[in-house]
Amino acid sequence: MSGTDELGVLYEVEIQCPVCGHKFLVSKTRSKQLRFVKRDPDNCPYYDSINPIFYTAYVCPECGYAALERHFAEVTVNGKAAVEQMITPKWKKRSFLGERDLKTTIEIHKLVLLNYTVMHYPFHEIGKLCLKIAWLYRYSKDPVEEEFLENAYRMFEKSYTSEPLDEDPNNEANVLYLMGEIARQLGNYKKSVEWFGMALRSEGMKSNKNLEKMTRDQWAEAKVAFSKEKNA
Ligand SMILES: [Zn+2]
Repeated sequence: MSGTDELGVLYEVEIQCPVCGHKFLVSKTRSKQLRFVKRDPDNCPYYDSINPIFYTAYVCPECGYAALERHFAEVTVNGKAAVEQMITPKWKKRSFLGERDLKTTIEIHKLVLLNYTVMHYPFHEIGKLCLKIAWLYRYSKDPVEEEFLENAYRMFEKSYTSEPLDEDPNNEANVLYLMGEIARQLGNYKKSVEWFGMALRSEGMKSNKNLEKMTRDQWAEAKVAFSKEKNA
C-alpha cells in the first residue's frame, strides 16, 4: 500500500477538518523507527532519524486551518468563525502530505501560530508553540531562533500574569521552569534565577522529581552566570 517513505518511518492516516469538514490524509511517524539522541534543557529533542516533531502539526489543505496534533480536533464556535473569516479567504489550497524538510516544517508551524493567534489561544500554548519554532531555527543554526525565544518568553510572562496557571500545577511548574531556562539562554540571568526559584516553590514541582532535578541544575548554572556578570 501507499503511505510509506523509503525508510518506512512515515505512514498515513485520514482525519477530518473540524472547521470545514474536509477529509484528508496526514503523515505520522512510527515510533519504533525513531532513533532519539538527546534533549536540550528547554526540551528541544534531537534524532538520528526523521524528527517526529516535524509531523505533529496538521494543516487542512482545503481551508488552511492548522493546529498541533493534540489540539487539532478541538475547535470552539468562535475559533471556527475566526478561521473562516481570517484564514480561509487568504488560503491557497495545498497539501503537506509526505516527508517534510526543515523549511516546510517552519512554514507549517508559522501557519499554526497564525491560526492560534486569530483563534485567541491561551498565552501559554502560544508560548510553547513559539518555543518549538525556536527549536526549528536552532536545528538550522539560524539566528531567528532568538526572536522566537523572546516571543515565547513574552507569551509565558503574559500567561503568568493573566491566566490561572495554578489550576494545573504541573503546567505552572513547567511554564515557570521554561521561563527560567529561556531567560538563561537569552542572557537575562537575574530573571532566570528568579523564575527558577519560583518554579522550585510551585505546587506542581513536588510531584515531578525529573523537573525538579532539571530546575536545580539549570538554576545553579544561572546563578554562576549571574555572579560572574555582577563581578565582571
Ligand atoms: Zn478545513
